[in-house]
Amino acid sequence: MAAHIIDGKVLSEAMRTRVGAEVAALQRDHGLTPGLAVVLVGEDAASQIYVRSKGEQSRAAGMHSLTHRLPAQTSQADLIALVRQLNADPAIHGILVQLPVPKHIDEKAVIESIDPAKDVDGLTVANAGRLVCGLPALTPCTPLGCMIMLRETLGDLAGKRALVVGRSALVGKPIAQLLLRADCTVTIAHSKTQGLPDVCREAEILVAAMGKPRFIQGDWVRPGAAVIDVGVNRVPFDDPVQAAAGKTKVVGDVAFKAASKVAGWITPVPGGVGLMTVACLLQNTVTAAKAIAGVG
Ligand code: NAP
Repeated sequence: MAAHIIDGKVLSEAMRTRVGAEVAALQRDHGLTPGLAVVLVGEDAASQIYVRSKGEQSRAAGMHSLTHRLPAQTSQADLIALVRQLNADPAIHGILVQLPVPKHIDEKAVIESIDPAKDVDGLTVANAGRLVCGLPALTPCTPLGCMIMLRETLGDLAGKRALVVGRSALVGKPIAQLLLRADCTVTIAHSKTQGLPDVCREAEILVAAMGKPRFIQGDWVRPGAAVIDVGVNRVPFDDPVQAAAGKTKVVGDVAFKAASKVAGWITPVPGGVGLMTVACLLQNTVTAAKAIAGVG
């Protein structure tokens, strides 16, 4: 039996429609327009696409949207000065510094300069700590998107055995925290994990966030499991002629074809988690705007 596809396009469109309606209600009832500022340093091609899409989608949802494009040689001090200016700007409720930043800039110092109340990427120590403590927090967007996909698919997650492969602060750790909060029994695997295939075979929920193309094999997947593939990896085309011509495509961390013969549900790449990330950013900006304005 082929797995059901968890369709990021359908789920993210529904979410963006809900956010758009919430923005319209905030404007109508409270005169409040949520504002998102995105800061991009340098010319990274993938980042340019992500930033453009964040700007377009926030405007489409009726939000105030600002994009700051800074040259690659921008100093850390100048970047932090801009973040502080946005912290103080009453029209801005969400600030996102697109990662990665150029190597001469200390990413952690920049993240910590963001007011936690406006940290819509959920990356400040304050928000990460609040998540661990079970307090209300702005939560990283990709993990939020994964949880929405799982809830829409499985309903109540309590008691499920969940495995997260990857332990980054951006993806793996917050997903694990959210699964724990949903009463799953959570295992976190990483590059030093022994016997990963067997660890995977125990998982009713398998979240792959490694950045290794098609690493998780079909026969590692437990029959009927829900597989959430966070990976975004650019690889040469399978067809050698096209590959030789330099053609590339995006694949996930899971060997999709084989895994979809075993899993119960699976997210495609592209068309899965990635689409949820921007929708969750819009939702986080609305959440931040309401909290800052004291609107229930
Ligand atoms: P990262 O910071 O490089 O972390 C990768 C994690 O995978 C690390 O914890 C690493 O373990 C673990 N890992 C690497 N090789 C492994 C192996 N052989 N076995 C088990 N674990 C292994 O990457 P990230 O920022 O979390 O991103 C992960 C992937 O998600 C990337 O492909 C990225 O592009 C994608 N992503 C997608 C979205 C989206 O919107 N769809 C958003 C963000 C990221 P160690 O800790 O031991 O090194």
